[in-house]
Amino acid sequence: MNRVLVIGAGGVGSVAVHKMAMSPEIFSHITLASRRVAKCDAVAASVKQRTGVTIATAEVDADDIDATAALIDRVKPALVVNLALPYQDLTIMEACLKSGVHYLDTANYEPRDEAKFEYGWQWAYQDRFKAAGLMALLGSGFDPGVTSVFTGYTAKHLLDRIDTLDILDCNGGDHGQPFATNFNPEINIREITAPSRHWENGVWVEGPALAHKQVFDFEQVGPKNMYLMYHEELESLAKFHPGIKRIRFWMTFGDSYLKHLEVLQNVGLTRIDPVMFDGREIIPLQFLKALLPEPATLGPMTRGKTNIGTICTGVKNGQPRTVYVLNICDHEAAYAETGNQAVSYTTGVPAMIGAALMLTGQWKGAGVFNMEQLDPDPFMDMLNTHGLPWQVRDLPAPLDF
Ligand code: NDP
Repeated sequence: MNRVLVIGAGGVGSVAVHKMAMSPEIFSHITLASRRVAKCDAVAASVKQRTGVTIATAEVDADDIDATAALIDRVKPALVVNLALPYQDLTIMEACLKSGVHYLDTANYEPRDEAKFEYGWQWAYQDRFKAAGLMALLGSGFDPGVTSVFTGYTAKHLLDRIDTLDILDCNGGDHGQPFATNFNPEINIREITAPSRHWENGVWVEGPALAHKQVFDFEQVGPKNMYLMYHEELESLAKFHPGIKRIRFWMTFGDSYLKHLEVLQNVGLTRIDPVMFDGREIIPLQFLKALLPEPATLGPMTRGKTNIGTICTGVKNGQPRTVYVLNICDHEAAYAETGNQAVSYTTGVPAMIGAALMLTGQWKGAGVFNMEQLDPDPFMDMLNTHGLPWQVRDLPAPLDF
């Protein structure tokens, strides 16, 4: 029996449990828990209607270690899949240690009061997970997640030496709203407004947020402006692929989105420090989140495709080679299959795949692991068979940006 407990009933959690229900030979019993059980029940109804599988639901405040451990003890899963928010990573890891179960997430820990995400807090759990004989798999989404696996696959099969790595994340979807984010707005806006940072010759190079722009012609999407950003997988890629001289991350944004963001920033609505309003403290960014559409509601309105991939330059058999590994995902197809748009889909499917590889013992170990440390091949195979097929393209010359 492979029992799994998924925490977090947002778009990503919804996709993950739909896809788990489609592989009952791996996931024999699924429980979905979140802060509000009504959200879990709605997902469970959709899973039942789409797949015929009944999943269990529960309510939990994952900020509370004891309550989370008590739920784990009741459900008795082999693995907890954390698809709540990055704020809950450490409390859920603590609960897993307390109850003796494996752990997986898709985003690294971030404190609420500081827009700072890094693996240090979670890497600090290495000795405790190791001593307990438990595995914690960090960052099994698309980016981080698939982008790290694409890089591992490139290093294993496509290049003998990687010199540069560029991760290109394009969401060519259009939801018709003047301003909305495709995943949790608070986490999304904190990420985008942080200074840019990339890895070059052994050091981090910082720059102002969204200041370095390039046009790139994305397959099945068209030319888009993409911006140099910091993104969390850069930290683990620099650590586990120390030979790569330059690692950068780019994400596309439309002009209208950036104009809205600039105004929101200028008026202070993206601040994360408390301000007094009407006699009580509020965090402006949390207030803004309450005003914006819930990402899950964008699903039925979103048209177009995402195109996310890695471009590596390097050497193969003594010759220079540039290879692009990419996935293209259609928003409407993702919605038809799971009731969620492609940004949730491209994260929830890799979360399911990471969980499947852990439950079947294809990925195993004691301690805290990043995706780069594990064999990319079974993960790449499952991407092809579970809705995120990838392609490899040789590019004629190194990138000129
Ligand atoms: P949502 O905000 O849609 O969903 C988060 C869910 O977690 C909500 O159901 C929320 O409950 C629940 N939750 C929040 N706090 C708690 C708590 N204390 N206890 C229990 N449940 C809680 O986010 P997404 O589904 O879009 O994203 C989920 C995760 O995936 C995030 O960590 C995000 O950063 C990550 N992500 C990773 C990506 C990748 O490629 N690696 C890409 C996109 C997202 P409620 O509904 O009540 O608010």
